[in-house]
Amino acid sequence: MQRPPRDAAALAALGLRGLSPGIGARLRAIFRGGRAATEDSWADVEEALIAADVGAVAALELVDAVRSRSTIRARDADEIRAELRQEIARRLAEVGSGTFELGPPPSVLLFVGVNGTGKTTTVAKLAARLGRDGRSVALAAGDTFRAAAIEQLRIWGEQLGVPVIAQRAGADPGAVAFDAVTAAEARGLDAVLIDTAGRLHTKGQLMAELTKIRRVVERRLPGQPRHVILVLDATTGQNGLAQAEAFAADAGVTGVIITKLDGTAKGGVVVAVAERLRIPIQFVGVGEGLGDLAPFDPHAYAEWLLSG
Ligand code: GDP
Repeated sequence: MQRPPRDAAALAALGLRGLSPGIGARLRAIFRGGRAATEDSWADVEEALIAADVGAVAALELVDAVRSRSTIRARDADEIRAELRQEIARRLAEVGSGTFELGPPPSVLLFVGVNGTGKTTTVAKLAARLGRDGRSVALAAGDTFRAAAIEQLRIWGEQLGVPVIAQRAGADPGAVAFDAVTAAEARGLDAVLIDTAGRLHTKGQLMAELTKIRRVVERRLPGQPRHVILVLDATTGQNGLAQAEAFAADAGVTGVIITKLDGTAKGGVVVAVAERLRIPIQFVGVGEGLGDLAPFDPHAYAEWLLSG
């Protein structure tokens, strides 16, 4: 009996079953019939990578790396695909990836990112995952700017059966963070996951607020927050990059979760984010359900990106 290829298993593990950016199909078209690679075909490969939102710099570097390894003139799409896949996975692994460790309880996890990226859903998904691993958690509604955000977190908390630390809309998010850390410590919880605002009146105000929350947590519990997780929406493609850079610079981001990788043609943005920020991608969101969060695996991701 033939065993399924390792990559198929890895792909399934990543939870990406749907549409991929379709680079595989483009490679097959470019190298149809084992055609010898020309300047034009390499330019087409670069273009296919850029179309998937890998970014111009990374696309050029990837093509150069694969090209420099080529010793024969006639190439086939599978060979190019395998080499690109290896190179993408290698680069991503260099930046770091995968899940994170919790420290001595309580670990404080701060979630940052603009509204609509899936931040609150991701907090819930991660809480569900930690719960499945036998960890006790609480959620904290640090986005006091929007009453709906507090309500949304309460609903997730009820569904998950975990405590939610919240105050009224308009309250000081630093005070919510302080309460949350105190409650987590008093209850002996493993982790507290703090949701934060994704939009205030100005970007400067938002960053100042995040800095303040961090400072409150640090003072209350030295060494925390252990993780500052940036949530980014893959469907925003290259536009998300500028956002990511701002948060990475100002909010002390330690890890990235990229959401909505299911069914986007812009999934290459993962490469662009990792290359630009040099911060590990830890999980990817692959759907709207609580279980749709997968630890990021560079090999499985590269396989998915180049499939189709
Ligand atoms: P927030 O404003 O950043 O807190 O965003 P929400 O958590 O409210 O999510 C915004 C929308 O994105 C909701 O409809 C979520 O169900 C959806 N969403 C979140 N993560 C994913 C994902 O990984 N895949 C898909 N397809 N939708 C997602």
